[in-house]
Amino acid sequence: MTQTGNSEVPKDASVSVVAQHAATLKALPFSDTRDFDEASRGLLGTLEHARITSAQGRVVWSLEPYGFLAEEKAPPTVDPSLWRQSRLNMNHGLFEVVPGVYQVRGLDIANMTLIEGERGVIVVDTLTSIEGARAAMELYFEHRGKRPVAAVILTHTHTDHWGGARGVLDEAALASGIVPIIAPNLFMEHAVSENIIAGPAMQRRAQYQFGPFLAKGSRGQVDCGLGKSMAAGSVALLRPTDLIMATGDKRTIDGLEFEFQMAPNSEAPAEMHFFVPRYRLLNLAENCTHNFHNLLPFRGADVRDALAWSKYLGEALQMWGGKADAMCGQHHWPVWGNERIDTMIRQQRNLYKFAHDQTIRLMNHGLTATEIAETIKLPASLDGAWHARGYYGHIRHNVKAIYQKYLGWYDANPVNLDPLPPVEAGKKYVEYMGGADAILARGSKDFANGEFRFVAQAVSHLVFAEPDNQAARALLADTFEQLGYAAESATWRNAYLFGAQELRQGMPKAPPRPPMPRETLAALRTEQLWDVLGVRLNGPKAEGKYIVLNWTFTDADEIFTLTLENCALTYVAGALAPTADASFTLPRSTLDEVIAKQTSFPEAVAAGKIKFTGNPMRLAELMALMDEFPRMFEIVEPKRAVVS
Ligand SMILES: [Zn+2]
Repeated sequence: MTQTGNSEVPKDASVSVVAQHAATLKALPFSDTRDFDEASRGLLGTLEHARITSAQGRVVWSLEPYGFLAEEKAPPTVDPSLWRQSRLNMNHGLFEVVPGVYQVRGLDIANMTLIEGERGVIVVDTLTSIEGARAAMELYFEHRGKRPVAAVILTHTHTDHWGGARGVLDEAALASGIVPIIAPNLFMEHAVSENIIAGPAMQRRAQYQFGPFLAKGSRGQVDCGLGKSMAAGSVALLRPTDLIMATGDKRTIDGLEFEFQMAPNSEAPAEMHFFVPRYRLLNLAENCTHNFHNLLPFRGADVRDALAWSKYLGEALQMWGGKADAMCGQHHWPVWGNERIDTMIRQQRNLYKFAHDQTIRLMNHGLTATEIAETIKLPASLDGAWHARGYYGHIRHNVKAIYQKYLGWYDANPVNLDPLPPVEAGKKYVEYMGGADAILARGSKDFANGEFRFVAQAVSHLVFAEPDNQAARALLADTFEQLGYAAESATWRNAYLFGAQELRQGMPKAPPRPPMPRETLAALRTEQLWDVLGVRLNGPKAEGKYIVLNWTFTDADEIFTLTLENCALTYVAGALAPTADASFTLPRSTLDEVIAKQTSFPEAVAAGKIKFTGNPMRLAELMALMDEFPRMFEIVEPKRAVVS
C-alpha cells in the first residue's frame, strides 16, 4: 500500500496506521454524539463559509478550504478521533448560549462572547484580528439589533483574545473613554512579553504547531485541536482601563453583576474566569475546553503550571458548582445543565491533577521525561471523556512539560550533558551504522513494519550528516508523514506533516518580517525595549567595545544609562552616567516611531524631535552590532547559514 521513494506527493496511510485507526474506532465512544448537538445548538445565523475579508479584499479567515470535512467517516490518513474534533470545529456563526448571552464561534480560532446588559452589550474577548472582530460584531448586530458596547472584557493575554479589540471599539468609543476595558492583573506586562524576547524563534516554530503552510485536506492540515487555524488580519493591543486584582472581585457592568476568579500561570500568565448570576452563566476562559490543553505548546513558551491550573478549576467548582445553567469558554462550544457542567469541570480538574501528580510520582521513581511519556496512561474514566483528549496538548508531551517545570532539560544522565550537536553526531552515527546505504536498507525494512518512531530517529541522523541525500530525505519525509497520519493530536499531525513537506519541498518562502506595530510598541515598557535590543546584540562582534549612552524620555519622565561592556548590553534605570559617550533627549513615542520604521533616527534628529550632546556616532556603532533575525531557519535538516 505504501511506497517510499523520491516522490514529493503525499502518500497513502500504511497498513499499521490503518490498523491503529480501526482500533481507535472500537476503543472510543463514537456513538456519543452529544458534542455535535451542543456545538450546533442555538445557531442564529452565519457568514457564507465563515469567510471574512479585509478592506483590500484579502481573505483573513475562511472555512471553505475545509469542505472535505463534510464527510462523516474519517479517511485512512486521519486519526478518527481527530477527524471528529475537526468536524466539531467546523460549526460557525452566531449562537445563543442562553437568552441574553451569545457567542460568535468558528470565525476565528477563538470565540467572542456577547452578554447583553440593560442598554448595551458586554463583549468578552475580541478575536485575533480587527477584521474578524468587526465581522463578528456585524453578525451579532444583524441578529440582535444594534446596541452600544458597554464594556470589553479580555479574559487573558493571548493574541487571539485581544488582537481585534479595535474592531469592537471604534475611535469615538475609545476617545470618549467611557467604555471600560476589563482584564486580569498584569495583563499588559504579559500580553506582549510572552512573545517578544523569543518572538522570532517562536513564530517559526508556530508554523510546525499550526501548519499554516500545509495544504488543507485529508493528507494535510485538518485542524489545530483548539479550533481550525490561526487567523490573519490586523492586530492592535488596547490598554485595559480596569484590572481585576483578586478572586471574589465583583463589578456591575451595564446593570449586570460579574463575579471574577483569578487564574494566573494557568493557560496564560494572566487569565481570569467569571460568573454572571443573572444569566447563571459561567465562563472559564481557556482553562476548561474540549481538549487536553497545552502545558507547553510546540511553538515554545514559559512552562505552564498544571497544579495551579487544576486548583483553579477546583476553586471554580467550589465557588459556582451547581449554580450555572450554562458554561462557555473562549474556544470550542458551551455545555448546559448543572450536572454536565460540574462533571466537565471535575474531569478537567482531575485531568491536570492526574498528569501533574503521576508525572512527579514517576519522576521521583527516577524515570526521565521520555520514559514517563512511555509509561503514563490516563485512567479509563478520563481517557473516554472526549473533552479530555489530547487534540491540542497531549499527555505524551504534557508530561515532558511538567518534568521540565520541576527538573529542567537535563535528565541527569551525563551522556546527555554535552552531546555532539546534530550534524556532528549524525556523521558519527552514519559511520558507526555502516554508511548511508545500510541505514536506508534497515530503515525501509522497519518502515514497512510500521516502526516509524525509530526510523525517524535513525534516518534523521543521516539527513543531518548528508542533507543532499535525496533517498534519506524521502524516507524521513515518508516516515514523518505516517507519524502525522497516526497522530490524534492536531499539533503533532501538523508538526510531522510540515516536517515531511519541508524535507520534500524545502522551506516555504515567507515575506520579510514587518516592523513591530506602534500599538504593540506603546504597550512595551522601555525596559522591555532594552531587553529586546540586548538579545539582538552580536556578542562576538562586540568584542572589546565599550559604549555608554544616556537616555532621557521627556513624555515618559524616564532616564536610563545603556552600557555595552563585556559583549553584554545592560541598563540602569533612574540614573544618567556622568561620562557617557552621548546623551539623547526625546519622547519615548519618537523612539517607537524609529523602531516601527516610520522615521529614522537621523530624520528625527533633523526634525528636532531628538536632541543630543556628545558623539552620536557611538549609537550608530552600537546599532551596527545588532543582528537581524531570519523569518525562516532550517529545523529538520542542518542550518545553511553559519551563525556565530
Ligand atoms: Zn486562545
